[in-house]
Order: sequence, then C-alpha cells, then structure tokens
Amino acid sequence: MPGRHFLFVPGPTNVPDRILGALHVAMEDHRSSAFPALWRDLTPRLRRLFGTDQGRPLVFPGTGTGGWEAALTNVLSPGDRVLAPRFGQFSVLWADLARQLGFEVEVLDGEWGTAAPIDRIEAALRADRGHAIKALLIVHNETATGVTSDVAAVHRVLLAERHPALLLVDSVSGIGSLDFRMDEWGVDVAVTGSQKGLMLPAGLAIVCASPRAMDATTRATSRRSYFDFGALATANDQGYFPYTPSAPMLRGLLESLTILLDEEGMPAVIARHHRLAEGVRRAVKAMGLALCAREPGSYSDTVSTVLVPEGIDARKVISRAFDRYALSLGGGLGPLAGKAFRIGHLGDLNELMLLGALAGVEMALVDCGVKVTSGAGVAAAEEYWRAGD
Ligand SMILES: *Cc1c(COP(=O)(O)O)cnc(C)c1O
Repeated sequence: MPGRHFLFVPGPTNVPDRILGALHVAMEDHRSSAFPALWRDLTPRLRRLFGTDQGRPLVFPGTGTGGWEAALTNVLSPGDRVLAPRFGQFSVLWADLARQLGFEVEVLDGEWGTAAPIDRIEAALRADRGHAIKALLIVHNETATGVTSDVAAVHRVLLAERHPALLLVDSVSGIGSLDFRMDEWGVDVAVTGSQKGLMLPAGLAIVCASPRAMDATTRATSRRSYFDFGALATANDQGYFPYTPSAPMLRGLLESLTILLDEEGMPAVIARHHRLAEGVRRAVKAMGLALCAREPGSYSDTVSTVLVPEGIDARKVISRAFDRYALSLGGGLGPLAGKAFRIGHLGDLNELMLLGALAGVEMALVDCGVKVTSGAGVAAAEEYWRAGD
C-alpha cells in the first residue's frame, strides 16, 4: 500500500529518523580503549531517565520480559515469596514467569481496568508478620488495560508497615513517557525495554537496581548467569560488557536519551504525552465508546484500551484498520480479545499523526457496523488540541 504505514500499537513505536541514523553505524571494537566512553555517556543519562542518583543502570540484550527475569533472579532465592497484584495481561504474565522460576507467588487479583489495589497490598503486608514476602511485583503502566498505578503509594504502604520487601516495578510502557522517580518512590529494581517510550527497536532490557537491590544480589541464590547483575556491573565499571554488546543499539539509546532528556526534556515529554492522551480520550468519548480503564485518576497517558460495543468483534475492526487504512492498532489481550482494541500514543508522536490514527479508527469502526458519526472523534481531539494547554 502506498504512503506511510501508521504504527499505533503500544510498542514497538515509531523510531525517529535521527535514531535510525544513530543505529546505522559501522561495527566497532568493543574491547578497544575508545569503547568505554559510550557507557560513560550513557550512565548519567540512564540515571536521569530512571530518576535516581545512586541506582545502577544495567542494560542487557533482551526485551522487557528478560528484564522481569533479571529483576527476580538477582534479588531473590528459590522459594522466596513475592506479592503480585494482577489486573491485566502484563501483571498476569510477570506473575506466571515468577512461578515458573520457582518463586512462591501470592497473587492479588483485581478487575481489569483497575489499578494496583493499595488497600489490599497494605492488608497483605500487614498480615505478613513474619516478613515472608520478599518482594512486590508492580506493573506501573498496565499496557493491556491502559491503567497507570500509583507506585509512590505502594512505597508509602511499605514504609508505614515497616515491611522490608523489595519493590520491583515494571515500567516497560511508562519509562521515557510518564513520570518515573525511582529514588523518591523507593523502587528497588525498575524494568523497561527499548521499543516503547525509548523509540528504539526491540532488543534491550533496560534495568536499574537500587543500592539495596545490589546488596540483595550478594545474598540471592537464584541461579543466574547471563543476566547476573554483578558480572555486568563489574565489566561496566570499566566501561565494558562481559560479552559482545549490541553497540548500534547502545548508540541508538544514547541518541534517544539525548532527544528525551537533553533536548525536549522529560517534563515536556511527560506533558506532551498527557496532552496527546487527553485528546485521544476525548475522541473516544465523542465516538460514543468507553475505555477499559475505570478511574480517570489512573488513565494511562501512553495507551488507551477502547471497548467496542456488544456484538462487535474488535478483531475485525483491527483487521479492517490494517488491511484498508494501513493503520496498526493493538489487540485486546487475554480476556479482552475481541472486546477491545488499543491505541498506543507514546514515543515520537504529535497531534497530526494521532489525528490520522483517530480518523482511521473511526473509518474502521463505521465499516464494521459501529454507530459512530464520521469525524466526531477527530473533531473532539482537534478542539482539545487547538485550545492548547
Ligand atoms: C511490552 C511490555 C512488556 C514486555 O516486554 P517485551 O519487550 O515484549 O518482552 C512487559 N510489561 C509491559 C507493561 C509491557 O508493556
């Protein structure tokens, strides 16, 4: 199909031309005396990205899922208990992975569309007088439902209960787009990936460990080798990696961090994501559709999960958008399959790109028999964005 394809899945996201250029480099000698300069440039920027002064950034070849595994195996021992609130596909999958790795997973199941339940987390910690729970697994931005949880509130509960559990946070679809404050929120291990807010191809698991987490690694006896924090940290201290790093991806990451932190600046990036997301939400409402997310206070600024009316198969809407209008939308995951589609609004985006996507959504919906007034959603988004704010 001629023209540009519209990629509006919540990851991978559009890679800006400048990052594509940075990725397009000759292979280099990763054992040379010149190579450590790259990690020296990356370290302070990664710290700023995570919102930490003392945390240690750890970048592995892999994806967010590899980051989950790395986070668990580096700070826990076999049979350790973890508390895992589940309220969407990614929190379900992280809990599954923890169980597969041999940890004892205590789940707190919440309705999809809700956020991490602070009161139930508090009750579970309070009931755990013997401190059997060694870690909390919190998905900051649940990409399946379009819900952002209050990580700071989880930390406050840990403090109030004087509970020593480590706070492990998946912010794969949050970091680089949403506010994230590792130190202030008491996060011990934060996990992200390269292909969402960081606007890179998939290929890096980007993790950050607090000093407390690095200390826990010295006692954690889970088997790990490739994803060992200690081995990577030792090599990184000299600017090297224990194996062949993906140098082009690291160069691309440096370009991404330069754009986000040094040029646009994270406060502006966060504000832009909020403005774009709010326009999308107004468009969805004007189309007469509802979001999966329940509470306005936890609406995600990086992804909107839109429910389709009863009797409509969301998969058909997604196929129509792709086949006829060259628009990729995210599918409904798990129990939301067929019931919802997702609009990713994160990364290298502006209003006009999103208006194109919203127009495609409207056309695909009308084509599939959903009663939407053509242009209603686009008009609502335009009105909001024109007014500026
Ligand atoms: C995308 C995503 C993941 C999984 O990341 P992969 O890079 O696909 O392994 C995990 N958690 C969340 C919240 C995500 O959005």
